[in-house]
Amino acid sequence: MAIILDCSIAAASIRTEIAEAVSKSVAQGNRPPGLVAILVGEDGASQTYVGAKKTACDEVGFAGDVRRFAADITETELLAEIEKINQDETIDGLIVQLPLPKHISEEKVTQAILPAKDVDGFHDINMGKLAKGDESGVKPATPYGITLLMKHYGIDASGKHVVVVGRSNIVGRPMSMLLSAAAPYGNATVTLCHSRTKDLGEVCRRADILVAAVGRPEMITGEWVKPGATVIDVGINRIERDGKVKLVGDVHFESAARKAGAITPVPGGVGPMTIACLLANTLTACCRAHNLPEPKGLTA
Ligand code: NDP
Repeated sequence: MAIILDCSIAAASIRTEIAEAVSKSVAQGNRPPGLVAILVGEDGASQTYVGAKKTACDEVGFAGDVRRFAADITETELLAEIEKINQDETIDGLIVQLPLPKHISEEKVTQAILPAKDVDGFHDINMGKLAKGDESGVKPATPYGITLLMKHYGIDASGKHVVVVGRSNIVGRPMSMLLSAAAPYGNATVTLCHSRTKDLGEVCRRADILVAAVGRPEMITGEWVKPGATVIDVGINRIERDGKVKLVGDVHFESAARKAGAITPVPGGVGPMTIACLLANTLTACCRAHNLPEPKGLTA
């Protein structure tokens, strides 16, 4: 049976490190890092995610703020709110919770955030820096969290064959860029798969490290897992089973765990790492804005 990669333990250790850095900096007379989350409309899942981010901010001593707007806010009004935050020197990080109502362009909103405050790491400037291996950019929180999870458990990607299933701009593609980078957390040989990949099972069976970011419940079964491989399941899918709503990943946990050497569970998967890395990105943004030394332990 595989080792369970407990992301809540890894995330808690990152939050502790951040809290210690904040308390030291505040004791030296600096203001705490400021993180604002914008929430548009009443979507239930978005409210839960934003609530979890606010709780995490409070826990580490950040000045966290949720700005709520009605679903009928215009795109122009929302862009003006973002510009206000861009100009506000007390705010280091800004997250706009997606999805947005249909009449607002997510692309325009994402690109309106100042790259230095884009702690989700979605801005073109940050994606471009990631592609070039330029560490001065902000790394997308979920893939960054996975590299920190691997570091926490001593999983070295160097020289390994990594298969990433899913090529979205927020998970799969940046994950492939990070793990193939010439960096301590990278140096892997990466295969990036998607819906047009032929013989996906065959490709997955060649993975030393398999990252699933597909959004299809339990699509990857133990048959696709190489014995002893590390399996990282990013998927969060709500399904109905035995009359109850259940959270499952993109990996069929029971069968994959029988083959894998190590595996992340769902629930309890990489979600807490994503939030911890939003905090880490905000702390780094604050240090950069004030020319303070960046915390070393948060590099993968
Ligand atoms: P997207 O829907 O944006 O992307 C899914 C990707 O999977 C696409 O590249 C798609 O290929 C590929 N795909 C879909 N079906 C298949 C298939 N049958 N075979 C091979 N590839 C396929 O999803 P996200 O990347 O945004 O999210 C993926 C999962 O991760 C979701 O379950 C989401 O909820 C979860 N998630 C979890 C986070 C966390 O913090 N834990 C954060 C973000 C996401 P193509 O490009 O060809 O269409």
